[in-house]
Amino acid sequence: MRSLTRSEARRRAALLSVTSMEVDLDLSRGEHTFVSTTTIRFRCAEPGAATFLDLKPVELTSLTLNGSPLDPAGLDDGRIGLEGLAEDNTVVVVATMAFSRDGQGLHRAVDPADGEHYVYGHLFLDAAPSVFACFDQPDLKAPYAVSVTAPEAWQVIGNGAATQVRPGRWQLASTQPLATYFVTVCAGPYASVRSEHDGIPLGIHARASLREPLERQAEQMLEVTRASFDYYHRLFGIRYPFGEYHQVFVPEFNAGAMENPGCVTFRDTYVFRGAAARDEVLTRTNTIAHEMAHMWFGDLVTMRWWDDLWLNESFAEYMAHRTTVDATEFTEGWVDSTVARKMWGYAAERTPSTHPVAGGAALDAQAALQDFDGISYAKGAATLRQLIAHIGDEAFIAGVGAYLREHAYGNGTLGDFLGFMERASGKDLGEWSKAWLLTAGLDVIAADQSGGVVTRQVPEAFPADRPHTLDVAGFTGSEEVFRVAATLVGDTTEVPALTAAPRARLVVPNASDLTWATVALDAGTLAAVPSGLAQVPDAQARAVLWAALVDGVCLGTVDPRTVVETFGSAWPKEHNESVLNRIATAVLGRVVTTFVPHAEQSQARAVIAGAAAELLQSSEPGTTRALLAARFLARSSSDEELLRRWAAGDGLPPGLEDDSDFRWLVVRNLAGRGLVDPGFVEEVRSQDDTLAGLLGSLSARAAMPGPDAKSWAWEEITANRERSNYELNALAAGFWVEDDLDVLRGYVPRYFAELPQMAQWVGADALGRVATLAYPARVVEQATADASAAALAAGGGHLTPAVRRSIVDADSELREALRSRAVFG
Ligand SMILES: [Zn+2]
Repeated sequence: MRSLTRSEARRRAALLSVTSMEVDLDLSRGEHTFVSTTTIRFRCAEPGAATFLDLKPVELTSLTLNGSPLDPAGLDDGRIGLEGLAEDNTVVVVATMAFSRDGQGLHRAVDPADGEHYVYGHLFLDAAPSVFACFDQPDLKAPYAVSVTAPEAWQVIGNGAATQVRPGRWQLASTQPLATYFVTVCAGPYASVRSEHDGIPLGIHARASLREPLERQAEQMLEVTRASFDYYHRLFGIRYPFGEYHQVFVPEFNAGAMENPGCVTFRDTYVFRGAAARDEVLTRTNTIAHEMAHMWFGDLVTMRWWDDLWLNESFAEYMAHRTTVDATEFTEGWVDSTVARKMWGYAAERTPSTHPVAGGAALDAQAALQDFDGISYAKGAATLRQLIAHIGDEAFIAGVGAYLREHAYGNGTLGDFLGFMERASGKDLGEWSKAWLLTAGLDVIAADQSGGVVTRQVPEAFPADRPHTLDVAGFTGSEEVFRVAATLVGDTTEVPALTAAPRARLVVPNASDLTWATVALDAGTLAAVPSGLAQVPDAQARAVLWAALVDGVCLGTVDPRTVVETFGSAWPKEHNESVLNRIATAVLGRVVTTFVPHAEQSQARAVIAGAAAELLQSSEPGTTRALLAARFLARSSSDEELLRRWAAGDGLPPGLEDDSDFRWLVVRNLAGRGLVDPGFVEEVRSQDDTLAGLLGSLSARAAMPGPDAKSWAWEEITANRERSNYELNALAAGFWVEDDLDVLRGYVPRYFAELPQMAQWVGADALGRVATLAYPARVVEQATADASAAALAAGGGHLTPAVRRSIVDADSELREALRSRAVFG
């Protein structure tokens, strides 16, 4: 289906202003479709002119413009023309719409735990017309009055406060002006916890089968919500403008969360049914604060077009870390940012699909989806941190407040935002924004203590004079022997304080992680890292060292064996839980499975398992450190006796006795080693008959070795059209767990032939994720790279933009592994 272009959006915004939207949804008509009735009142600046309405129904029942019926047959490829407009117009559309299974539009899920159905709207990008007729672009905002008919046992939650006017009939309060992509309705027998803060009614909701963990965890989430409201009210000087504030944890959600005003949706894996690590609660806390920041930045003031998407996401990403550190117990939020977010962004910067933070093309709405990446989030946030270092926090906050007040309930652009920053700071930001926002690329920073210099290497492909404000720290044993601040101007900056300081064993450039750059460690530091990293007393500097090691592996400058060795010695002694979790995930999930040569992988996995066993042994039972240790042991261990015991529920570490998610980690490892059969997996699933249990079983079955098991899993991914987005992800995540490359090789050509075809029945956002997970990254061979290149070169309509993007990025990562193996053997 075609996607709205920027020039079409400009023309339509110049012509129209939408006065009001009335949307009536009847969700009581069965499991597959619903009836949508929309009344749009809008003004036209040039009476007599024509425009078009966006609409993606199963069946268009009727359409009237100013009382005159239009022929439904005029609907073509998601659009219907409206001609001879008056100054004031009313369009009424009645249509039958389809519930979705891919997390886009109005998604409907069934909970196997109790057979209950749940519906939620995710209208982001261009899914709104599959729920109601509209002018679908971010700068045609309007107040919404939504009403819903639903089964009587259901609860309805939406952007406006919901009132049940009679059994099964709900009226939602009229909203402030909203962009189309922010409208949502969540309906089903949701379980709820309600509260209030500073006059704002609060609600937290999840599936009924998650009621117990929801009620157990709600207070922590409410506390974060209250603290964030106080913080943002103080910082921005503008009260939260959207009435009630609901946070709904919904099934099979593609992203982490979505900032619908008054009704934020989250993936419901954030309601932890088993034990949760500190790092996981931190991530949820960060997401809550991120979505709340959007209430001002994104929702109150919305980007005019998708090309300024970064402005929303970079700001929310930056604010979430800041709020987590300043207003919650998670004062280590910036360390988490290094290992959880910036490493993701650096990886994005190394692929051919990297792009400037701002000023991207986003010629149509679908193209904009491709920019939802580590650049828009992590680099954008790092760039804002550099901006604050450049102009000062006071000017930054004053500028943000002025920008929000000026454009409240409307739209803004990068130019508007920078204008307010310049006025608040009195500084010209032209050069600064050209280097940091309008040019892609990642500099490499290195420090030479004896030479007294810090160097900056600018990538040839993206020349720019990026100024870096940073610090360099030196450590010997557990002592910090120096920390010096520097602003890099040009490629070599003299920092005499380095030579004056005591000689350090480990030198860490960008030790506080203030700037956006790959850190290259000097030879002495690299040699000292395996034995010295664990003793570094500063968690932030340790995180920077870990990131430098993993980035070095990807760049082919650090031997993956050095990282495995360092993992074995330093990881069990690590005290920051974000570092523990994220680095183990990166090392086990990528360094070991792709960079380490195939023949050495089981040995490397044994090092991971040994480190996990050591951490489990040395941690206090029941702590979240012990939990993380047990999880990585369950994932990496080859000890069949231990795994079987744990699968049977015997001798489990304290706190994991009834933890079904932990059990699935064990079962998947057993399955991947061919030690259990499908009957065993189904038996475990029958004891955990939930959505999570279904996904665990699919992943375990897909992980089973041998031609028959792989053939079954591949068919389920590429040919079973009933599979939901989450089921596809689970299958794809398990598929490449297989040590026999002869079995896997056959699926390399099949991936390129069959996966792109799935665009016929899976939405772009969902399929992009499946395409990444299902990519043959385990087959680190030139033939795989050649097959990627051939698929990308084929052109035409063979690959949708989302699938193409997934292949470009996965191919780039595969080539990093090939390069590393060529260098280090
Ligand atoms: Zn966001």
